[in-house]
Amino acid sequence: MSRQHNDAAEQKRRRGTFSLRSLFLCFGLFFAIFFMLVTAYSYYDMSLIRSSSASLAKNSIPSIMNAQRSLVNLERLKGFLTTMEQSTDPVAARNAYIDASALLSESMFEIEDVAVISRSVLNKVKLMWNTRSNLIRTHSELIEDWIRLALIVNRIELQHQQDQQGNFAQGHDPAQDFLGWDYAPESDFSGFMLSDHVKKQYEQAAQRCSAHSQEMAAACAALAPARESFERNYSHYNAYRSDLRRRSEDIEFLVNLMSSSYTQNETTVISAELGRISDISKDLSFYLGLISAFVLLSCAGGYLIIYTILVKPLQHITAFINRFNRRQSIDDLKLPVTRIAELNEVSALLRHLFADVQKITSDSERITQRYSELLTISYYDELTGAHNRRALELFNRTMGEVPQRCAVMMIDIDFFKKFNDTMGHQKGDMVLRRVSVCLIKNTSESDIVYRYGGEEFCIVLQNVDRTILASIARRLCQAVRQMDIINPGNDHKPVTISIGISPAAAQKGQWSLEELIAKADAALYEAKRTGRERFVFYEEGQDTLL
Ligand code: GH3
Ligand code: MG
Ligand code: MG
Repeated sequence: MSRQHNDAAEQKRRRGTFSLRSLFLCFGLFFAIFFMLVTAYSYYDMSLIRSSSASLAKNSIPSIMNAQRSLVNLERLKGFLTTMEQSTDPVAARNAYIDASALLSESMFEIEDVAVISRSVLNKVKLMWNTRSNLIRTHSELIEDWIRLALIVNRIELQHQQDQQGNFAQGHDPAQDFLGWDYAPESDFSGFMLSDHVKKQYEQAAQRCSAHSQEMAAACAALAPARESFERNYSHYNAYRSDLRRRSEDIEFLVNLMSSSYTQNETTVISAELGRISDISKDLSFYLGLISAFVLLSCAGGYLIIYTILVKPLQHITAFINRFNRRQSIDDLKLPVTRIAELNEVSALLRHLFADVQKITSDSERITQRYSELLTISYYDELTGAHNRRALELFNRTMGEVPQRCAVMMIDIDFFKKFNDTMGHQKGDMVLRRVSVCLIKNTSESDIVYRYGGEEFCIVLQNVDRTILASIARRLCQAVRQMDIINPGNDHKPVTISIGISPAAAQKGQWSLEELIAKADAALYEAKRTGRERFVFYEEGQDTLL
């Protein structure tokens, strides 16, 4: 029966141990799952950021490529325009125009943002092409004029050469005359000594030259329109050239505008932003991973520490208690020697601890008692045994406003200086002590006697009315006189006291203890002034003789 009972208890304890371990396991597991969830959630967030930035990058790639292609096309377009402006070959210029048009049309479809600019460039190119065509036409006309001019000049040259060949033999160069253009056929030879043959030759040459001269004049006349046409066409050519240059500059400006269009800027900004986002997401992932690892390690470490310092020893102790309950003999316990030593050490430590606690408790009680004693002493006057000024001030602080049935008496020993002067201070001290004891004895326990200073006393009376106050004051004066302490300094009369009384009920309104003391002091002064050994109430300003 007892065995069964023990087994049940052991199972119960095992359940207790198990539940404790489970609690710690659950605790650790809960934290691990919690941090895993947080980590997973953060990774999910990171992946969202990454995927959104990737899709953003994917979307922006075509626009970046478009922008890059547009830039390349623009460069090509610039090349075509240069060819068109500088080439003297009309065919090459036309081909460049066609290419530029095709490129611009293509660009117009590709880049919506620069379509308007492209169209305007195209129009300008068309205008330029017209100018160019005009130029080429004028140019070809010029060439024709030039060829015609060259043919005429060539013919004249040939004629001249023939003349040279005819006349050279006679040592005369008829070309000199021929080139003069104002050759006269009927020249006068009278002044020269020439042979007939030479003269004849010369006349023949002169005739031929005259004929050539006429031909030359005719050729010059024929050349005049060609020359005019050449000059006209040349001025046209120059005008077209400058127009072409102007239009080229316009196109250059538009092309620059296109190259600095927002597509390029925007894509640059987008790509920079994407880079930044990707950097941040990488950093975040790294730090999150680091924190998660740190937290998981901390949890695992914490669990291990708790298990080692708490759970494991508790399991040992539980197992030991179970064995202890099931024991048949002491050998069944099979408690390891180290455990016994540990238990002995612990019990010794506990005993020490208990002794220390007891000592500390008794010490603290003693100190508390001593403190309260000192506190009590600190509120009493050493010489007279009455309460001192500190006690009065404490009472004043705690009291606040004085109740109606409260009163203050200020008491002063009469002619005490004379006593001191004749009997000495030590005797004076004895008188002070005796007067103090007399005052305490003749007042009730609720009326507290304070030594106010020197040979002055202050009594705070509670729950008294005026008639009682008068009788108390009278009793005090009589009691002091009846001690019959002779004052040799005052004609050997007995030591007496004067009293100033200030009852709270006699004043209008509420008063503090300090104010009552001041008023009682004023009444005391009045008692002294009017003859001593008497009591005076403050409110009446009259003395009352014994
Ligand atoms: P009265 O009050 O009647 O006007 O005259 P008095 O001589 O008592 O007044 P006064 O205030 O002039 O003198 C007070 C004297 O009390 C002065 C001092 O010698 C004496 N005295 C004050 N404190 C002590 C003390 O602690 N011990 C002794 N022996 N004398 C004290
Ligand atoms: Mg005095
Ligand atoms: Mg005095």
